[in-house]
Amino acid sequence: MGVDHKEFLNKAVFIPDLCEQIKVIMERYNIDLGRNAILVIITCLDDQCTTVIEYIKRELRKFHPKSSSKDDDNIIHIEKFYGMRLFGGIFIPEIKTYESLLPAAHHIPEKEKGNLLILNFSHIGYDYEKKHFGKLVRYGHINSTHACGAIKSLYERIINKKDMPIDADLKALSNYLQEIVKTYNIKKQTNGLDILQLTIKAYEHQIPWLKGQLKELSLLDRINIIYIGGIEIDMSKTCEEMNKDKVVIIEKFIIDNTGTVEII
Ligand SMILES: [Zn+2]
Repeated sequence: MGVDHKEFLNKAVFIPDLCEQIKVIMERYNIDLGRNAILVIITCLDDQCTTVIEYIKRELRKFHPKSSSKDDDNIIHIEKFYGMRLFGGIFIPEIKTYESLLPAAHHIPEKEKGNLLILNFSHIGYDYEKKHFGKLVRYGHINSTHACGAIKSLYERIINKKDMPIDADLKALSNYLQEIVKTYNIKKQTNGLDILQLTIKAYEHQIPWLKGQLKELSLLDRINIIYIGGIEIDMSKTCEEMNKDKVVIIEKFIIDNTGTVEII
């Protein structure tokens, strides 16, 4: 079974809309970035994801209460930000653990009612002129390139039965993707729909493990963890078409400091 790509695209929101949703959640759970919370963003290493991260940070900065003394305080607060770059933005089961998030948890300023606000996005390119997933025309480019480069190139190695990379991180991701291809019976499709299916399943399949790890972290450090995640869609762009990237939110939950999980 493939995925309904039209339905998927219909669910996508622009970054300011994503940030408005984050703002509502922050208000509901009394999250004050830089005071009682640290922002954690888990995404791919891709420079396109960096663009999206910076855009999210810029939007969130607008929500921060203005300091009465000097505006610079806003910048200092929002920089309570912990970036985790993982190939594909995937927190690979049995490989990544809550331990890699301990530094972020330990740096929450007011620990009494401390919060980690986690944004976790895998990503996929979308060439909207060709209606093709898995690639996009990047800023300054004429032709399209792969996105996610790691997921797409590893998938091609898998279906063509080629050798896997030696690099430990890429090897771990390729083993994980092989499992996804097998478990969900992913087969070649036109217009990169197989890459879309693989990306969505790779994202979703990590959730039970990730949730378990976050639960351990919340209990260990007695913090609330608010998780928002899904797939970033990197749209092809020309110079006139900045800020077209979108996000499809797939998971939203809170784990309170007693380890109780609640969907939000
Ligand atoms: Zn990537």
